Amino acid sequence: MSTVEDIASTTVSELNSIMDAAVAAGDVFARLSPTQRAEILESIANALDAKSGELVPIAFTETHLPIARLESEVKRTSFQLRLMAKTIRSGSYLGAVINEPDASWPPGPRPDLRRVLASVGPVAVFTASNFPFAFSVLGGDTASALAAGCSVIVKAHSGHPRLSKATFDIARASIVANGLPEAIISIIFGTESGRHLILDERLQAAAFTGSTNGGRTLFDLANSRPRPIPFYGELGSVNPVFVTRNAAKRRGNALWEGFVESFTLGAGQFCTKPGIIFVPSDCGAVEAIAERLIVKGHFALLNERISTGFSDRIADLSAHPSVKVVVRSALADEGVTPSLFTTDIASFVAGVDTLLDETFGPASLVVTYTSEEELLHVASLFTGELTATLQAEKDDAIVPELISLLQSRAGRLLWNNWPTGVAVTSAMQHGGPYPASTSSRDTSVGTSAIDRFLRPVTYQNFPDDFLPPALRQSNPWSVKQTHD
Ligand code: NAP
Repeated sequence: MSTVEDIASTTVSELNSIMDAAVAAGDVFARLSPTQRAEILESIANALDAKSGELVPIAFTETHLPIARLESEVKRTSFQLRLMAKTIRSGSYLGAVINEPDASWPPGPRPDLRRVLASVGPVAVFTASNFPFAFSVLGGDTASALAAGCSVIVKAHSGHPRLSKATFDIARASIVANGLPEAIISIIFGTESGRHLILDERLQAAAFTGSTNGGRTLFDLANSRPRPIPFYGELGSVNPVFVTRNAAKRRGNALWEGFVESFTLGAGQFCTKPGIIFVPSDCGAVEAIAERLIVKGHFALLNERISTGFSDRIADLSAHPSVKVVVRSALADEGVTPSLFTTDIASFVAGVDTLLDETFGPASLVVTYTSEEELLHVASLFTGELTATLQAEKDDAIVPELISLLQSRAGRLLWNNWPTGVAVTSAMQHGGPYPASTSSRDTSVGTSAIDRFLRPVTYQNFPDDFLPPALRQSNPWSVKQTHD
């Protein structure tokens, strides 16, 4: 048995028992009313908040993230659980639609048809290293899967195994205290056991937040199964920023300041970090950004794997024929200093194959342009981004065309804001065309995230007693029913 720090990897036979129990527990959980499930989510949120003081020090030791950031992340995580509880309470998420029989329906009489969304069954959640609470054991994926009535098997991230176990223990205790089967949530450890989990025939769907390589490997495994399953991978992104000539002229200093803050926030370890900014060649942006960057100190990175990945990427970019180094990262015991690279549009286009890859950490690339036609051309080279930002003015003639190009390439467009940070709301879209995510129709943040773990079923001509409660005439759960 191999170990991740002091926690043993899950064996194949342990995984087998975990999956049996997850199926049985999921059957019970899926039958609860939305109100009952909402209460469970709220009770887990309360338990998490109550144990924040114990969890944060473990998270600090394992991730090196600042204490204040970790404390606020716990609050965000319990908020996500409560927001999901609120979302399901009314039952409108079930989308209950009732077509009563109609003999005059063209082209022929229609029978009694009733459609509702049902839980898909056991869901795997692969957690990320950079949000040890909000995208981890009790993060958004788990919250939305539990809200949908699915049992969850969490694959703990190797970057924070002890925190994962401690968070899991809190969730389980809360579930058991509510009189429900403990296997509504389970946890496994070890990279290899994650691969076994994806291939387990009892698993019905998987959610993943992490690197493009890891996500793509698991996505391919999910599709290689005799019976493929949906795999919702939220991967990486370079989150381009397009600065128009007018914006640079009117707001230059504030823009360069805002950009440096955005790409160094959290040591640049956010999937929404702006990794490329396009600026007019004659606006002095490169020097102004560099000036603000060199006064930043060292940033502690999350773990050895992220540090090595960052150093390798900086070395590759430094040697890249298309780019010039403006500020070069230096490594020290306390962490790493940030990097800045620059290039012009023609060289960027020549090196686009590698320059569109994410650099995870405090580094960014400034690309200079001379005409706004060039800006439109480079916008068309992006394929899939979590975000795309316009720093522009209302009287910029290229704005409508730029918006049109970007809306087909990114999940979230920003107007004179910065992309780092993702609000948890009903209008949020966190995803995008591949490679930003493996399912561009879905989001992993916000209340719509629940849709990934629900599947529509239509009942034709059923007696009321055999219908799911949400579809019955008596409507025992008092959910919203649309009669059409
Ligand atoms: P990661 O290295 O991909 O790890 C994520 C999970 O996948 C871990 O459980 C890991 O297992 C597993 N995994 C990775 N490669 C695997 C493989 N080949 N086979 C089986 N399992 C594998 O992700 P990370 O460490 O969190 O890296 C940060 C990346 O996440 C960045 O690129 C960042 O942009 C992205 N990210 C994206 C979002 C988003 O919402 N789109 C949010 C946060 C971060 P082990 O831990 O056991 O290795």
